[in-house]
Amino acid sequence: MVLLTAQASAALPPIDSVAVDGLEADTVANSTEIWLTDEVLFNYQRCPRRVFLDRYGDRQHRASAPDYLQKLRQDSYLHQREVLSQASFHEPSYPKRDWVAGAAATTALMQQGVDRIANAVLQITLENGIHLVSCPDLLVKQPGYSIWGDWIYAPIDIRLGKRPKLDYQVAVAFHAYVLAAVQGMWAETGWLILRQRGTYGVSLVDVLPRMEEILQSCMETLLQQQEPEVFISHSRCDLCHWFSRCYALAQSDRHLSLLPGITPSRYVHLKALQLKTLEDIAIAPPKQLEPLPGFGAQVAQRLVKQAQAALQNRAIAHVEFPVSPTSPLLSEAELPTANVELYFDIEAAPEQNLVYLHGVLVVDRLTQTEIFHPFLAKCQDDEGKVWNQFLELVWRYPHAPIFHFCLYEAQTVKRLGEYYGTPSDLVESLLSRFVDLHERVTRVAILPIESYALKSIARWLGFNWRDSEANGAQSICWYDQWLTTGDHTYLEAILRYNEDDCRATYRVKDWLVQFTQLDIESFS
Ligand code: SF4
Repeated sequence: MVLLTAQASAALPPIDSVAVDGLEADTVANSTEIWLTDEVLFNYQRCPRRVFLDRYGDRQHRASAPDYLQKLRQDSYLHQREVLSQASFHEPSYPKRDWVAGAAATTALMQQGVDRIANAVLQITLENGIHLVSCPDLLVKQPGYSIWGDWIYAPIDIRLGKRPKLDYQVAVAFHAYVLAAVQGMWAETGWLILRQRGTYGVSLVDVLPRMEEILQSCMETLLQQQEPEVFISHSRCDLCHWFSRCYALAQSDRHLSLLPGITPSRYVHLKALQLKTLEDIAIAPPKQLEPLPGFGAQVAQRLVKQAQAALQNRAIAHVEFPVSPTSPLLSEAELPTANVELYFDIEAAPEQNLVYLHGVLVVDRLTQTEIFHPFLAKCQDDEGKVWNQFLELVWRYPHAPIFHFCLYEAQTVKRLGEYYGTPSDLVESLLSRFVDLHERVTRVAILPIESYALKSIARWLGFNWRDSEANGAQSICWYDQWLTTGDHTYLEAILRYNEDDCRATYRVKDWLVQFTQLDIESFS
């Protein structure tokens, strides 16, 4: 059962201001039938362009949801059902996405005063003609006075996430906003039920003003029908169904969002200085960019060189002066070359807190052999067993440097060492052999690529993965499908992908060795 704690409701707007804050009359006159759901508002916070394309875009350019997104949705649904099953509830019955019927069925339950309503639908229409639809995962009855009697409802969303992120809180504030108009009274608070943190009270007093700003902006985008500019940010775009269309557009425009280091806020400042193209940035004096908010000397220098590298399609040395032009960019200690080298990559399912594969490519330069060793946990219980197998292998080569890409491998080895009680001095000595190639590459080189992810760098060097669509998220889906079906082809796909990651890391290392043999011309 969810326990709610009352919270002060001071400073919430008067109830009759809810649902009447529309747009100007002429905009209202031009409005078409728009159903703005909490899901739309949630997406708008991530990307206004996505909401615009969902409404007005050509559906032919819309891709189906990738496996990983489908898995997240499925996990989220199962989590929600698990939480709901902890106490009895009523649920409105209505045809899928028939919001009017859903709202009528929910209102009938609220009017009866039932204790808990799962998958509720709340709907109001604003003066501008837009229909707001809120679908809280749960409405919980509380003391108070609504239009039906001496009870009110408070909204709850159940999220798979671990933290009460602002976009989750804004969705709860949206529920509270629509709910206030439906029941004629503000709920004192709204709630999130998070997977690890449990119940979290959302301060409506704090979050409502932000929600109203976002809602207003979202409505303007939908009513005015102006396509928001594309801005590729891989962390949010990679799972978006409009990615192919947006990416093609960004590429054809050589959009600045494809330049590593240009964030949405930096982009705004650059545009204000009329620096809108790669050419503009490549010839800009770094001193001009330095004072901009979020820049500074390092970022400014790097951005200018990044634009130059993109225009010249070549790697540029990135050095901190003064540096001796006769010494390599990285010392032997920082980028060791040994007779035997290990290339290491982990596959893990963070949501299950499970490391299911340690892949190690052993490169012996004397015997000219390259042997890939995969240590694969075929089920959750095997994690400890494969951890020990991995340790046996790396201790067989006590002096071999262990190359990996990004911090995750080192962090995970440390965590597994603690979890499985591996003596800390052994783990420390193992970690002292780790060399993070991502850190080394970004420290010394500026490359004509769109991101400093392993795939991007290795592909620029001519390396190709055998499964071109494979990635870490897909590997998690394959592992999940293996657990569900027992089909070995999923495990084979995971091993192929992991081995290619190790080989790509090897390729990056070899290139970096050559690059760091200082070429004086690269300083010109
Ligand atoms: S691909 Fe990126 S920019 Fe395009 S709609 Fe999706 S999230 Fe927005």
